[in-house]
Amino acid sequence: MYDYLIVGSGLFGSVFAYEARKNGKKVLVLERRLHVGGNVYCEKLENINIHKYGAHIFHTSDKKIWDYVNQFVEFNNYVNSPVANYKGELYNLPFNMNTFTKLWGIVTPNEAISKIEEQRAVIKEEPKNLEEQAISLVGMDIYRKLIKGYTEKQWGRSCTELPAFIIKRLPVRYTFDNNYFNDRYQGIPVGGYNKLIDALLDGIEVRTGVDYNESRAEYEGIAQKVVYTGPVDAYFDYKLGQLEYRGLRFETERLEEVNHQGVAVMNYTEREIPYTRIIEHKHFEFGTQPVTYVTKEYPANWQPGEEAYYPVNNECNQNLYRQYKALANDENGVIFGGRLAEYKYYDMDDVIASALKCVNDELV
Ligand SMILES: Cc1cc2nc3c(=O)[nH]c(=O)nc-3n(C[C@H](O)[C@H](O)[C@H](O)COP(=O)(O)OP(=O)(O)OC[C@H]3O[C@@H](n4cnc5c(N)ncnc54)[C@H](O)[C@@H]3O)c2cc1C
Repeated sequence: MYDYLIVGSGLFGSVFAYEARKNGKKVLVLERRLHVGGNVYCEKLENINIHKYGAHIFHTSDKKIWDYVNQFVEFNNYVNSPVANYKGELYNLPFNMNTFTKLWGIVTPNEAISKIEEQRAVIKEEPKNLEEQAISLVGMDIYRKLIKGYTEKQWGRSCTELPAFIIKRLPVRYTFDNNYFNDRYQGIPVGGYNKLIDALLDGIEVRTGVDYNESRAEYEGIAQKVVYTGPVDAYFDYKLGQLEYRGLRFETERLEEVNHQGVAVMNYTEREIPYTRIIEHKHFEFGTQPVTYVTKEYPANWQPGEEAYYPVNNECNQNLYRQYKALANDENGVIFGGRLAEYKYYDMDDVIASALKCVNDELV
C-alpha cells in the first residue's frame, strides 16, 4: 500500500513526491506522457536542450524557493532579454531606453517620457477596447510596432475587438535595462530542467505512459491518498462540460549554423508573420555547438484532446471551474493541485511554492 498515488510528474507532482518521500512516505507517480517533467521537460538533441513545451525561464523573488531549487541543481546566469522583430527592425524588450532610442532617436529619459506622454494624450476618454487601452498606456508608435500584431496573433482577434481589461499595465522602463523580468533571481538549470526533475524523483517509483483517468480501476485502493495534477474536468469525465484552453503549435528545425539569431527569444510583432516567436534553444545555456535548433511558436485554437497550454479565464470558464472545484472539494482522499487541476496559470516558482504548502499542510 502506498501513502500517496501522485498523478502527473510536472513540478507540482515531483515536488510533492520528493517531500513526501523525504518524510518517510511511500509514493508512486503515474505519468500519462512517455517522459517525466510535465511542461518543463526538455529533449536533448546534439547536446542542445530543446524546450519541448515552450521556452521556460526560471525567475523568482522568493529566496526560499530559489534556495529550494538550488539544492537540486545549479542555475546559470541566463537573463531573459528578448528582442522584437517588426518587419526587420529590431527593438529591445521590455520597453526601455534602448527601445525608445531606436524608435525615436531620442537620448534622455525625459525626452522619452515627453514622447510617450504626447502620444498617450490622443486617447481622451475611457478606453473602449484593447487598442485604445494600449495607446493610452504607451502611445501610438509602441502600440503599432510592438503590441498590435503580436497581441492579435496571440488572441486570434483584432485589438479593436478585444476588451480593454486584458492589458492592465504595460511596464515602461526609463533605463537602459533589457532584463525582461524584475525578479531578484533568474536562470536556467545548468544541464537543463530534466536534471531538476530527475533529482526530485530520484529513488521514487514512476510509471510513464499511464493515463490515470483511463486506468483508475486498476489503481483503486492502491494508496491512502491521491494527488491529482491532471485537468480537473477530465477527472470528472467532463460531466459538467469542458474547460477551454488556448493552444500552441511548435515547429522545430535543425539549422547548419552556429548562431541563427543571436538571442534565445525573438518576438515577431507584425501580424503578417503567423508565428509569435522564434526560440533558439542553445542560447539559454550559452551553447557553442556547431549546429543550432530553432522553434517557431504559433498560437493556435485549442481542440479537446490536444495539449492544453493557457487556461482561458473568462467568466464562462471560471464559472464552470468553480463548479468542478466544488466537486473536487467533496472528493474524499484526493488532493487537486497544479496548473491543470486548479485551472490556473502558474509560473514555475509559484507552482513549487503551492506544492510545498500543500505537502507541508498534509504532513503536519
Ligand atoms: C508555453 C509556456 C511557457 C511557460 N514559460 C514559463 C517560464 O518561462 N517561466 C515560468 O516560471 N513558468 C513558465 N510556464 C509555466 C510552467 O510551465 C508551469 O508553472 C508548470 O509546468 C506547472 O507544473 P504542473 O506540475 O502544475 O503542470 P504540468 O507541467 O502540466 O504537469 C502535469 C503533468 O500531469 C500529467 N497528467 C495530466 N493528466 C494525467 C493523467 N490523467 N494521468 C497521468 N498523468 C497526467 C501531464 O502529462 C503532465 O506531465 C510556461 C507555461 C507555458 C504553457
